[in-house]
Amino acid sequence: MDRIHSLDTQLTNQIAAGEVVERPASVVKELVENCIDAGARRVEVDIERGGARLIRILDDGRGIHKDDLALALTRHATSKIKSFNDLCAVKSLGFRGEALASIASVSRLLLRSRQADAELGWQAVAEGRDMAVKVTPAAAVTGTCIEVRDLFYNTPARRKFLRTEKTEFTHIEDTVKREALANPEVAFVLKHNGKIIKRYPAAKSFEHLQEKLKLVCGRGFSQQALYFHSDLDELSIKGWLGSPQHHRSESDNQFIFINGRPVKDRLLSHAIRQSYTGRIPQGRFASYAIYIQCPANEVDVNVHPTKHEVRFRNPRQIHDFLVKLIEECLSGSTSMLDNTSMN
Ligand code: ADP
Ligand code: MG
Repeated sequence: MDRIHSLDTQLTNQIAAGEVVERPASVVKELVENCIDAGARRVEVDIERGGARLIRILDDGRGIHKDDLALALTRHATSKIKSFNDLCAVKSLGFRGEALASIASVSRLLLRSRQADAELGWQAVAEGRDMAVKVTPAAAVTGTCIEVRDLFYNTPARRKFLRTEKTEFTHIEDTVKREALANPEVAFVLKHNGKIIKRYPAAKSFEHLQEKLKLVCGRGFSQQALYFHSDLDELSIKGWLGSPQHHRSESDNQFIFINGRPVKDRLLSHAIRQSYTGRIPQGRFASYAIYIQCPANEVDVNVHPTKHEVRFRNPRQIHDFLVKLIEECLSGSTSMLDNTSMN
């Protein structure tokens, strides 16, 4: 048996990357959420070859101080929380300080940034086993640009698991959709192999969000969707439920956002599915976009590194309230068990 030794930095980051960086779309999610946390009003996602060759994310957010660039690429380094109390009431999308270090350990990453009051921009790359960071001056506009090239080039097992360019891009498109709906006031542009694929303009307010919904979920959904909104103490739930006539063969138009974070919550999606049972044909899927707002300390986002899941302090309350709202909303509409679908 060997004696104990510490693992080198790149390896520890690659181990962490195993959890967060599953495929190009997970990189897009992490990087876009960083743009949102930086107060960006516009985010451009530029993809080549389904993300396997290049993922470039450009934002007009507040940028990173030159002296922090190297730190941003190291693990457990974040500007978002300082204490355990901050962690318990985290308002930003990120807080683990792991994404950039993880992504950098399994790709060729370049981070370029410029703050509004800085004279010029700077860029950083991390290389080698110790992931030594080189910082050099670079032409840049205010904001941040991250380029992730050749994802998994040094982890062949992962690279082998990448699906076709089309499949990987579909996952990216889905991620951008979710982020665009989660952050209505931010404009998104998605490009693939040099072509603009999607443009989601900023919605001026939540009310203007319906326009965005049309772009993301299609005209069929947004025209028929039933809007609902209700508050219970500090809990606020609002959104659009697809009318029962609008059923689909896939579950790709199902969105739940908790405090601006796209999540996949089994308890809540089960509750919604139950509410639609008997109203739509078996094997078909409802469409919905539901926005839940609750005090940050009521929900624990530190459940899984990908932050797809959350844990509520009082799940029953949210569940029951949501079911009640959906039942009220749907019982106002006619139940249709014919074969009309709006795919
Ligand atoms: P986390 O988001 O959990 O803090 P990351 O590894 O994703 O960790 O990012 C590390 C830090 O780098 C962030 O805390 C933030 O200060 C900075 N950062 C990353 N991306 C951006 C960006 N697009 N704009 C401004 N700052 C950024
Ligand atoms: Mg982050």
